[in-house]
Amino acid sequence: MFGRISIEYKSADQIRTMRRAGLVVADVLDAVRAAVRPGVTTAHLDAVAEQVISRAGAASNFKGYHGFPSVVCISVNDEVVHGIPGDRVITAGDVVSVDGGAIIDGWHGDSAFSMVVPDADPADEALVRVTEDAMWAGIAALASAERLGEVGDAIDDVVTAGSDGYAIIQEYVGHGIGSAMHQPPEVLNYRTRKRGPRVRPGLCLAIEPMVVRGERHTSVLEDEWTVITVDGSHAAHWEHTVAVHSGGLWVLTARDGGAARLGALGVTVAPLD
Ligand code: MG
Ligand code: MG
Repeated sequence: MFGRISIEYKSADQIRTMRRAGLVVADVLDAVRAAVRPGVTTAHLDAVAEQVISRAGAASNFKGYHGFPSVVCISVNDEVVHGIPGDRVITAGDVVSVDGGAIIDGWHGDSAFSMVVPDADPADEALVRVTEDAMWAGIAALASAERLGEVGDAIDDVVTAGSDGYAIIQEYVGHGIGSAMHQPPEVLNYRTRKRGPRVRPGLCLAIEPMVVRGERHTSVLEDEWTVITVDGSHAAHWEHTVAVHSGGLWVLTARDGGAARLGALGVTVAPLD
């Protein structure tokens, strides 16, 4: 905890390769989003994802990760993250969170979204929206942050302002990403006194708040992967892979590089291509 952490700072060329991986991840998640409807199984959604990865000539960083059996995680309702695709059938009103990644030439991308299946509880729709807004606020904060802790502050502020019924998961956090999917530093989604490492060019992060409509406490199912809320409250999860470089900030897993959402927050994105 008090030791020095070793952060892999990326060159511009390495970030460009991560962008290629990021665009594959965007394609994967778009394809899965389009396939989500009542009656499909989560295994079918995983097959859709696998086909996109394979056609892109990319490799999966999820499948085989500590034995994880699939190319995406699909977590429904009270499942927060790390749900294993299988014979579960999507039904109307579900909150569906999909987390996916890809590797191109050894460099990783990682991204997630949540959505509701009509007709959903408006409170679940609001949960999904607040979680996405919190992620973008965290990314926007990174653009001008001196210390990484400012990202967690910004995420926490959005969730806290959204409703006093929300809580931020603390056991699972964002992370550095690059030549491996999970690297230092941790990216906390909440406000702490720890200010974290200095933000400087070459820092590449997966920023991924997980928010619940109840208590933040979680447990893991017997499959040893699926994280659920202890109180059964519904959860949402959004994630993007983001690069800080000498010219600014670029959201590698967003097709527009983050231009639309960050522009609305007063941040100009800086693509390297
Ligand atoms: Mg992820
Ligand atoms: Mg991640």
